[in-house]
Amino acid sequence: MSNRFSGKVAIVTGSSNGIGRATAFLFAQEGAKVTITGRNTQRLEETKHEILKAGIPEQHVLAIATDLATEKGQDKLINETIKKFGRLDILVNNAGALFHDAQGRNGIAQDISVYDRTMEINMRSVVTLTQKAKKYLIEAKGEILNVSSMAAGPQSVSVIYYAMSKAALDQFTRSAAIDLIQHGVRVNSVSPGVVATGAGEAMGMTPEMEQKQLSVFSQYFNFVESHKDCIPCGSVGRPIDIAHIIAFLIVNCLLISLDKRL
Ligand code: NDP
Repeated sequence: MSNRFSGKVAIVTGSSNGIGRATAFLFAQEGAKVTITGRNTQRLEETKHEILKAGIPEQHVLAIATDLATEKGQDKLINETIKKFGRLDILVNNAGALFHDAQGRNGIAQDISVYDRTMEINMRSVVTLTQKAKKYLIEAKGEILNVSSMAAGPQSVSVIYYAMSKAALDQFTRSAAIDLIQHGVRVNSVSPGVVATGAGEAMGMTPEMEQKQLSVFSQYFNFVESHKDCIPCGSVGRPIDIAHIIAFLIVNCLLISLDKRL
C-alpha cells in the first residue's frame, strides 16, 4: 500500500457509512490523519473500528458525531479537527441524502418539506462548511472534493429535488473552483452512478421503510446489472470504487499544483 496521503489531514463528511466510510478508510490506509463524521454514533464507531483494525494508529483518527445540517454542528467539526490535527488539507463534502415524500408521491407532487430537507444537507451545508473550512484550506493550499450524482443529469424525473440539489452542487463546484484557485485551493467533484451502500436511515427512513427499501434496492441492483444499456460493465458500483476515484483526483491535483507551484 502506498502512502499518497502522508502528512495530510482530511475531513470526510458522511463517513459513518457507504462512500464516505470507504474514502476515509482509504485515506487513513494511505497515511492521512482523518476526521470521520456522521450523526449515527454506532455506525461512526464501526468506521473507526474498521480503520483501527487495519493497523492505523488511533491518533490518526478523530470521530465527531454531529448534524451537518446545523452550523453549530459544522463549527464543531472544523474546530475539533483543527484542535486535534492543527491543519486541514482536504475536505470531502460527501454527506448527502435522498429523502422520500411521506405519502409516497413522486415528481413535483412531493411535499415542499422534502425539497427543504434535501437542499439543507445536499447543498446549503456544503456551502457553509466550505466557507468555514476556507481559511484552513488556503493555509494548506488544499483540496475540496464534492460528491455529486449522475442524477444531476437531464434524465432524473422522480427524484426531482435530489436531482436539483446535485445539479446546484455541480454549479457550486465550478464557481468555487474558479473563486478559490487564486488562493491555491482546487475544487473538484465526482458524480457516481448506482452504488450499493444500502443505508436508509441517512435518507430519513424508519427501520421498517429501510427493510422494505433494501429488498427494492436488491431487485433494482439485479435489474440494472442485467441490462447492459443501464450499466455496460454489468455490475453496480461499490463504495471503494468511488473512494479510489476520489483519491486519484485529489492526489493528481496535488501533483499538478506542485508542478505549477500553486
Ligand atoms: P449513505 O446513505 O450510505 O450515507 C450517507 C452519509 O451521509 C452517512 O454517513 C450519513 O451519516 C451522512 N449524513 C446524512 N445526513 C447527515 C446530516 N444531516 N449530518 C451529518 N451527516 C449526515 O450514502 P452513500 O454513501 O450512498 O452516498 C454518499 C454520497 O454519494 C451522497 O452525497 C449521495 O448523494 C452520493 N451518491 C450516492 C449514490 C449511491 O448510489 N449510493 C449515487 C450517486 C451519488 P449519519 O446517518 O450517521 O448522519
